[in-house]
Amino acid sequence: EKGKPLMLNPRTNKVSLAWLSLRQLLGIHGLLPPKVETQDTQAMRFQKNLKKMTDPLEKYIYLMGIQERNERLFYRVLMEDIEELMPIVYTPTVGLACTQYGHIFRRPKGLFISIKDKGHIRSILDNWPETRVAAVVVTDGQRILGLGDLGVYGMGIPVGKLCLYTACAGIRPEKCLPVVIDVGTDNETLLKDPLYMGLYQKRDRTQAYDDLIDEFMEAVVEKYGQDTLIQFEDFGNHNAFRFLRKYREKYCTFNDDIQGTAAVALAGLLAAQRAVGKPITEHRVLFLGAGEAALGIANLIVMAMMENGMTQAEAQKKIWMFDKYGLLVKERSDTDANQEGFVHDSPGNVQSFLDAVNTIKPTAIIGVAGAGRLFTPDVIKAMAALNDRPIIFALSNPTAKAECTADDAYALTDGRCLFASGSPFGPVTLSDGRVFTPGQGNNAYIFPGVALAVILSGVRHISDTVFLEAAKNLAEQLTDKELAEGRLYPPLSNIREVSVQMAIKVMEFVYAKGMAFRYPEPMDKNRFVRGTVWNTEYDSFLPDTYDWPGVKFAPL
Ligand code: NAP
Ligand code: MN
Repeated sequence: EKGKPLMLNPRTNKVSLAWLSLRQLLGIHGLLPPKVETQDTQAMRFQKNLKKMTDPLEKYIYLMGIQERNERLFYRVLMEDIEELMPIVYTPTVGLACTQYGHIFRRPKGLFISIKDKGHIRSILDNWPETRVAAVVVTDGQRILGLGDLGVYGMGIPVGKLCLYTACAGIRPEKCLPVVIDVGTDNETLLKDPLYMGLYQKRDRTQAYDDLIDEFMEAVVEKYGQDTLIQFEDFGNHNAFRFLRKYREKYCTFNDDIQGTAAVALAGLLAAQRAVGKPITEHRVLFLGAGEAALGIANLIVMAMMENGMTQAEAQKKIWMFDKYGLLVKERSDTDANQEGFVHDSPGNVQSFLDAVNTIKPTAIIGVAGAGRLFTPDVIKAMAALNDRPIIFALSNPTAKAECTADDAYALTDGRCLFASGSPFGPVTLSDGRVFTPGQGNNAYIFPGVALAVILSGVRHISDTVFLEAAKNLAEQLTDKELAEGRLYPPLSNIREVSVQMAIKVMEFVYAKGMAFRYPEPMDKNRFVRGTVWNTEYDSFLPDTYDWPGVKFAPL
């Protein structure tokens, strides 16, 4: 590529760096202002502009614009200020961007496959310009964050997740493929919106939908290889469990809402138990919500308890769930097979979540209902009365769906709670001046590091033990000092290093357990991982140039 096309390619766009003779050779001299700018100066320009903006959606549009023009610069800007900018490209702002997708649309990103394309998915994949894809994030848009069915507007999620693959774990952007599968939407507002960009039809729930997903999985591995990582994201509850069960032994796949969430929540609990001083086996956990996230977390807690000597049945007895219709108890006829282990004998008359707290007396409550502020002041105060150090996780996204605010959690427990939320809250200052830094219990701490390890090790199937390992590692990376500040997770500003460390540990684990198929096994995994991660320095335009020793060529 030369000339203007080279200049416009976001992946090679660093031409303002090229020095004069190179600009001339590349056919771009005169197409740029004369000054040769470094990436530092370029980054400064964008950082300054971002600082001036107050509207998060405006920042989102602006950042996505940088990604479309100069990919390395985009990641440089994102990584340098990850704490500020992650909430823009990811939860909560990405949620807003998804709801407005058709309205803020500039340029398409990712691959769009609709149910009308059945039988032709391979041809669509062949249109994707990259041939060495290693990781796919796919959604069908049915349960975007806690916002519900957004159909094809859900594309913001795979795009945002994969931005974090690169920013947090250094996975090369050209190896990442975001996909939305459009089988219609049941969102009436979108179906009436002239700017909606998907199929104007109700969600297909027939066999054709299953066949389409089957075809998609087959086409991906046929094109990119058997060990291509396929992350399922924001599928509806029923389908999420079904597809995980169907594909987990056949493909290199995981469901982030079930398994990634599980690991991040368990890591938070493991960190919290350090502060509480009680082993995990002595905790009693009450969930608000009994869906993908709740069941994923519950099952991983059971695994962790079993590692500490409990039987499965004993561990399951420690975990309770409360959904839209109340506590999961044997008297109910509407519970499903996935919930079985957590459906218990009724403990008495429980009408509300507050009743459930007072009856079950949990040490931890975990909110994953996606239904807003259901950890009421009374609930929080009840937890404070029952426990010295109540554990309160409000994991639903985006911020408006969180079960309570960080302010409420700290204020109503007199600063005694161990709090984490799915979307970020700022530090909280109590009236006595004490400051608490709430943890962000978000799977962004898990999926990038796990994905990096899986990709680099040639893992064929991702076992739940991988997520248990990742959770333990994340909890170990939290320092005592950070724990004392009220944190349950390492600071977000450190997420790149956290993900790399996790990848190294997970790699050691999968090789030790015979789950890794990349040979020869890299002996020094630390060096191997660090040598592989992508960074934002511009590549040279020059080919590998050298002289032959002792040979002198006549000048041309
Ligand atoms: P899901 O499978 O649809 O589960 C939602 C569960 O909440 C269902 O059991 C539902 O009960 C229950 N529920 C809904 N409204 C309720 C109410 N008013 N009171 C009590 N229970 C209620 O969804 P999910 O995948 O678990 O996700 C739920 C939330 O977790 C979302 O907001 C999502 O953003 C968040 N999440 C956070 C993270 C993170 O990293 N922090 C990761 C994944 C998910 P019914 O089945 O009876 O409707
Ligand atoms: Mn999700």
